[in-house]
Amino acid sequence: MKFDEFGLNDQLLEAISYMGFEKATPIQDQAIPHIMRGRDLIACAQTGTGKTAAFILPILDKLSGETSDQTTVLIIVPTRELALQIDQHIHGFAYFTDVSSLPVYGGGDGVDWEQERRSLTKGANIIVATPGKLLAHLAMGYVNFNKLQYLILDEADRMLDIGFYDDIMKIITYLPKERQTLMFSATMPQDIKKLASRILKKPIEVSTEIAKPPEGVLQVVYLAFDNQKTPLINSLIADKPDCKSILIFCSTKKKVAEITRTLKGKGSVVSGISSDLKQSEREEVLRKFKARQIRVLVATDVMSRGIDIKDINLVINYDAPNDAEDYVHRVGRTARAETTGIALTLINREDMYKLKRIEELIKKEIMKIPMPPELGPGPQWDPRPTRSGYKHHGGNKRRQKK
Ligand code: AMP
Repeated sequence: MKFDEFGLNDQLLEAISYMGFEKATPIQDQAIPHIMRGRDLIACAQTGTGKTAAFILPILDKLSGETSDQTTVLIIVPTRELALQIDQHIHGFAYFTDVSSLPVYGGGDGVDWEQERRSLTKGANIIVATPGKLLAHLAMGYVNFNKLQYLILDEADRMLDIGFYDDIMKIITYLPKERQTLMFSATMPQDIKKLASRILKKPIEVSTEIAKPPEGVLQVVYLAFDNQKTPLINSLIADKPDCKSILIFCSTKKKVAEITRTLKGKGSVVSGISSDLKQSEREEVLRKFKARQIRVLVATDVMSRGIDIKDINLVINYDAPNDAEDYVHRVGRTARAETTGIALTLINREDMYKLKRIEELIKKEIMKIPMPPELGPGPQWDPRPTRSGYKHHGGNKRRQKK
């Protein structure tokens, strides 16, 4: 559909045309009319589908002409990066309106706290918050959500993965019962359905295609022993001088530090990003990576969702992520906006079982290619779970610290 068919106001249509959006994406087609009509909604949509605009545009339309100087919209998100990113999208779409928005997230300093406190008491129309920081403000007693009309939970599955269920339920006790609630999630496991049944009223359900990496990505697997992985990464990077932006994912912060150190020793312009960095440092690293001053960024899965960096040519998965869905998110960092990209995944014996689950999820066998001869042969393909492989799939796998 074209955006003017939704009945959005002229200021929003102007901002949309400045952004160069010509027609709505499928999730926007499905979600916007229901949100405009005031219905609660649960949407299954991944990052990269245009889901942010799918909820921001109709909500901004509803805010136009309202003069309230209190918060009417609360958007709850799992990470600081996503809070900042959504806030930036809002600023773009709301450019020709007088709607104000503020991100509230962990980290930051006393000055941030003071500004957040002021905005939460009487400033911003829209608050985009991570649960922990918002609860800290709520506990101080000065936040007034009496005028709140819209609640949006973005990346709800991620929030439950991190363990935010109780925080979300607590936040909801501070909100008016009469409100419109929207929930967006990349996957729809049972616990998401349970959350939806508790906080949404007769929701409309919409869904885009099930998780699948973008069409343009060439996906390849190397079966490698652990001691072959670092030399393999070195040779893959050295082989591809044309790749100006390379993203390496691994499952732990410790590995991020190790890989970053090794690659630096080889002379690459490389930086690691994980929750060990201060917020300001993370923003600086991302800014430099976007500006191509850093060629290789090494990150944990927390970074794989939501972050909107265009033109990454090569994604290397140092290991298989614990959740098959995270593979789609990692790989989705490349080949965005219909360009092409390469995603290489290094799989040791223990991760073969996880790779099989990934292949089941994406309904596709990923090409396995032999190790370069100078590194010697890798392990044989055997997807039966090993003992430690089983451990990763136990009941607590979703709560593992990244
Ligand atoms: P999201 O899924 O919200 O993270 O959006 C992914 C990217 O798609 C962002 O860079 C958006 O600016 C962009 N986008 C969203 N909607 C459209 C659209 N209708 N046409 C073109 N690009 C879009």
